[in-house]
Amino acid sequence: MKFIRFLSISLLILLLMPYDVTAQSNVVEVHFIDVGQADSILITYGEKAVLVDAGDNGDGETVSNYIKKLGISQLDYIVATHPHHDHIGGMDDVIENFDVKTVMMPDVSYPTVHYKSLLKVLKKKDITLEKARKGMKIKLGHQVNIQVISPSKEAEYEDFNDYSAVLRLSHKENSFLLMGDAGVEVEKQMLEKVKRKQIKSDVLKMGHHGASSATSETFLKAVTPETAVISVGKNNRYDFPDENVIQRLNEHHISVLRTDEIGTIIATSDGENIVFHTDNNLISHKKDK
Ligand SMILES: [Zn+2]
Repeated sequence: MKFIRFLSISLLILLLMPYDVTAQSNVVEVHFIDVGQADSILITYGEKAVLVDAGDNGDGETVSNYIKKLGISQLDYIVATHPHHDHIGGMDDVIENFDVKTVMMPDVSYPTVHYKSLLKVLKKKDITLEKARKGMKIKLGHQVNIQVISPSKEAEYEDFNDYSAVLRLSHKENSFLLMGDAGVEVEKQMLEKVKRKQIKSDVLKMGHHGASSATSETFLKAVTPETAVISVGKNNRYDFPDENVIQRLNEHHISVLRTDEIGTIIATSDGENIVFHTDNNLISHKKDK
C-alpha cells in the first residue's frame, strides 16, 4: 500500500513538474516550433543541432530566440525542405544569428526574394550548400541518424511542394518521418521505391500542414504512426488541416498534436520511448511497454 502511495505521489510530481527544455546528453529532442502557418523543426542530440525549415518571413527572430533559449549557438545542419516562403522565409535571419556549418536544400531554384536572400547570406557567410537527395545521411551519433528519403536525383514533379526533402530521423527503436510539404505523388513513389521499414515511423510530421494533397490512406497504413504532428496556423486562410485528413487519422486512432492548438510541441526520445511536452506541460507518454 505504501509503495502504491509512493508511486502515485511520484506520478503526481512528474505531472506537475514543468518541463525542463535544457538539452540532455542521451536523448534526442524534436521541437516542432510554433511559427503559425509555416514549418520549423529543431532536432537536438547532445551538442548536435539540426534545424529543418525556419518559418515564414518575419519568423526568423522567433526561431532564433527559441534556439538561443536552449543555449545553442551552433547549428550543424540547416535543411530547407523546399524554397517556399513558409519554410525558408526566416532562414536568412537564423543563418545570420548562428554559427551554421552546412545548409542542405533540394536541387530546385525558386526566384523569389526569400530564396535570393537565402543564397546571399550563404555566400556572405561562406556556408556550404549541399543538394538534399535521396540516400544522404546526417549522422548525429551512435544510432542517431537523419536520412533523406526523397527527392531522388532524377525526380520531376508538377507540384513544387513535391520537391520537399523528406527526412527520417531514427534513434534506436524510435523514428520520426518529416514530410515537409510533400504530397500523394511522393507518397506513391515512396511506397514503390523505399523499404517499408524506412517508411514505418512512430511520429509523422504531416505533409503540407495537413492539407488534402497529402497523407493518403495507403501511405498512412504504411507509416502506421502513433502520433501525427501538424504544423499549422490558427484560422489560416487555406483552411488547413483538411477535415477528411483529420478524420482519417481518427479512424486509425492516431494521436493528433497541432501547433495551432497547443503551440510548440517537444518530443523527447530515449531510444525506446517518446514523451511529448508543450513548452510547459507534459502531454503524454508514448510507446510505454
Ligand atoms: Zn508549407
